[in-house]
Amino acid sequence: MGTSIVWFRRDLRLHDHPALARALAGGDAVVPLFVFDERLLAGRWRSANRTWFMLGSVRELAHDLAERGAPLVVRVGDPRRIVPELADAVGATSVEVSRDLGPYGRARDRVVAASLAERRIGFHAHRGAVVHEPEEVRTVAGGPFSVYSPYRRAWDRLPFRAVLPAPERLTGATDVDPGRLPDLAELGFAGPTADPAHLPIPGEAAARRRLEAWLADRPDRLNGYADRRDQLGVDGTSRLSSDLRFGLLSPVEVATRAIRPGEGARTFLGELAWRDFYAALLFERPALVRSAFRPEFEDVAWRDDPDGVAAWRAGRTGYPVIDAAMRQLATTGFMPNRARMVVASFLTKDLLVDWRVGEAWFMANLVDGDPASNGGGWQWSASTGADAQPYFRVFEPTLQGRRFDADGSYVRRWLPELAHVPDRFVHRPWLMPPQIAVAAGCRVGHDYPAPIVDHPLARTRALAAFEAARRT
Ligand code: FAD
Repeated sequence: MGTSIVWFRRDLRLHDHPALARALAGGDAVVPLFVFDERLLAGRWRSANRTWFMLGSVRELAHDLAERGAPLVVRVGDPRRIVPELADAVGATSVEVSRDLGPYGRARDRVVAASLAERRIGFHAHRGAVVHEPEEVRTVAGGPFSVYSPYRRAWDRLPFRAVLPAPERLTGATDVDPGRLPDLAELGFAGPTADPAHLPIPGEAAARRRLEAWLADRPDRLNGYADRRDQLGVDGTSRLSSDLRFGLLSPVEVATRAIRPGEGARTFLGELAWRDFYAALLFERPALVRSAFRPEFEDVAWRDDPDGVAAWRAGRTGYPVIDAAMRQLATTGFMPNRARMVVASFLTKDLLVDWRVGEAWFMANLVDGDPASNGGGWQWSASTGADAQPYFRVFEPTLQGRRFDADGSYVRRWLPELAHVPDRFVHRPWLMPPQIAVAAGCRVGHDYPAPIVDHPLARTRALAAFEAARRT
């Protein structure tokens, strides 16, 4: 019998955890480890909301592990140094992890694995972050997909692996300094930027409650997903993205439990496949974190528009559906998928601002912020991506609002200044006759901004810029 370190990263759970199961199967003593990586905390994707959620989830994991007999070892610093040092200190025979598919995690893991190999300590990466690993979903010729629909068909043909139970008891190692869980201030943040009352409760138990609620056999949940998912005014999606982002839930368990007849489940599984697709795309092409998938659109003449960007971030563009979504993001650290597509189209097409500006703002604010899905979503919306909407398709913000928030309940919820605007003007308040505006307490240019761009003109400008980039 030896000692295995189970190094937790984006898999803060005990259920369906292949790396943990592997350590236990060997009958080893288990040293669970979490490292707050200072390079990530201070890096490009630094986020107070996400760190808050992660910290709460690690706290709960530490509690659950201690209860089962193996206290979590916590360190702050550089895992490339900390993991091998701890392995030496506890006399570990192996380090078990859930495989990280992102460019940063892969580079880090290569360094850690090499350093462990010098010490003759194994480093084993297991499944756990996605439903199907990138190498498993292949074209007939054996290569990766760059278009979603055929990827989905291939993904659908693969069986799900069996879901593993959470262990009831663990054998911890003695004589290890468990360290201390830092607080948010020690990690460099005064507090979340979102309103804590709107943030999801961190930790595996809360995530499992959200999953159970989502799977409840009701038309307003999974069963009704296909019909309701794009409706902005209703809570028609699972809200499991942060749980999947930090691995509080295993994607295989979520997928397996969602199998049932009907369009709702089929559409929902398709979204989990999108998540895998973007993870696989970034795995195959790590440069996508910085550059466009379509090289011809690397050179779009993006505009430098600090005022426009500031208005977009603050939710003061004068287009209600854009502003409601951006204020929801600031207040809750979340935005529904339809709204993400509409605000991303607005920034990259109507304002003709580089998608990387929006991508960075989303990463700073989203609790579910994930380089693969976020980068993929932004490149899709900006028409620079692998499986993008064509560049000549530009969302018309008022039409999107009227179509996906027909009764205006979404915009009224996030924009109190529009509370009394009549339905027919709620997505176009600038068309209100003066006496109606006064009665509604919403004079455009005074209580609510006038549109910062004229959509038809902006659309023409965007098409010209994309066309020019395509020709050069
Ligand atoms: P549901 O609709 O209930 O979907 C179930 C799960 O499937 C989600 O939790 C998520 O894990 C996955 N999923 C759903 N839609 C997508 C999608 N289009 N691409 C990839 N995975 C998907 N998702 C993130 O998890 N992190 C991000 O940083 C992120 N950034 C995005 C940026 C843009 C510009 C766009 C257009 C989309 C982005 N998405 C991102 C995808 C999607 O918007 C969110 O996953 C979804 O809104 C989360 O809500 P939900 O959990 O209720 O999703």
